[in-house]
Amino acid sequence: FAGKNTKSLLAEKVRSIKVSEIKAVPVVIKEETSVYDAIVTLFLEDVGTLFVVQEDGSLCGVVSRKDLLKIAIGNADIRQIPVSVIMTRMPNLVTVTMEESAFDAARKIVEHQVDALPVVKLKEAEGKVKYEVVGKVTKTTITKLFVELGRV
Ligand code: ADP
Repeated sequence: FAGKNTKSLLAEKVRSIKVSEIKAVPVVIKEETSVYDAIVTLFLEDVGTLFVVQEDGSLCGVVSRKDLLKIAIGNADIRQIPVSVIMTRMPNLVTVTMEESAFDAARKIVEHQVDALPVVKLKEAEGKVKYEVVGKVTKTTITKLFVELGRV
């Protein structure tokens, strides 16, 4: 153990694991998708957060359970309203890349008080920087990792 305490070993471990090793499959919808269809997708796919992409597949927003609940309890016609009206948009999205660590991802989830982060890959199109969604890291992902690390 060469003088290393349990705490620093744990820190080293969670910082050495990359997002690419723990990421889950993201559920993605188009920005024209209605709030109604987004709610149906949430149930069918059994997720809590949906990632919203533009026609070219680049990330433009995130919709959470509560974003959908909030609009659904009002008297809005949720079959007519697109998710783009209620989503949290770029550049306000908190994201991670494949190369960042599990620790970085967990810290972002805690600090920004969100349930899920899109894993993104930078791509350039027509001189603009865009993000392709290649995965997600959620509270469930981190809990699963915690369980794996806790096994003897
Ligand atoms: P819920 O609102 O269902 O509890 P969250 O805590 O994840 O779920 O979402 C809280 C708010 O933060 C919502 O308005 C949502 O759109 C937004 N949000 C969720 N994920 C992200 C993210 N990765 N980056 C920025 N905002 C986010």
